[in-house]
Amino acid sequence: MTKAFPEIKNVYCVGRNYRLHAEELGNAVPDHPMLFMKPSHAVVAAEGETITLPGTSGEVHYEVEVVLHIGRSYEPGISVNELVDSMALGIDLTLRSVQDGLKAKGHPWLAAKGFLNSAPIGEFRPFPGVEETAAVPFSLNINGSQVQQGRMVDMIFSPQTIVDFVAEHYGLGAGDLIFTGTPAGVGPVHDGDQFELFWGNETCGSLSVSLDNGRAEVSVGAGESAGTP
Ligand code: ZN
Repeated sequence: MTKAFPEIKNVYCVGRNYRLHAEELGNAVPDHPMLFMKPSHAVVAAEGETITLPGTSGEVHYEVEVVLHIGRSYEPGISVNELVDSMALGIDLTLRSVQDGLKAKGHPWLAAKGFLNSAPIGEFRPFPGVEETAAVPFSLNINGSQVQQGRMVDMIFSPQTIVDFVAEHYGLGAGDLIFTGTPAGVGPVHDGDQFELFWGNETCGSLSVSLDNGRAEVSVGAGESAGTP
């Protein structure tokens, strides 16, 4: 069961906040924080559960990110250390080919970023402060192998810059979450993958993936049903 999983209001996400990740997708490094949102319904606890993800809309990519939980109303001049009461690691799951199609048309990203279960989040812990978290490596393992690792100090836009920007343009208050962007190493999710999140050497979340291939809706008797257990 979820332990102390906070009530969630707005879910803000920062795109392209690590130089190597922007480059791996061929994107320019932005000159101000690039924000998008997920519905709060996208959030699911990553505490050992199996979560179901879309399996028929192209690749679902994982993006491990530090998630900040806002504990009080923003006021001009407030520091991140006063504003953020807890933190976790989360995965900004992304339908990458859908996103590429939306980008090409100039359409909003909701279909690529906001689908159900697209925001699994591990255990929240008290936020120890910007200085204490800056150099701690956070990472994602899939099936026992590390696929991504980052450090908050390598963010293009610092947590303070992000909260000030979000608050000024969109508002920020208790219960809001901010996904702060992913380091390099994103890649596709496969059916049955086991994800494990690490803050330093400590496990702080896990989940397994079930890709929904829509089998219940496809024709019966196609002759290839027994390929996977
Ligand atoms: Zn992301």
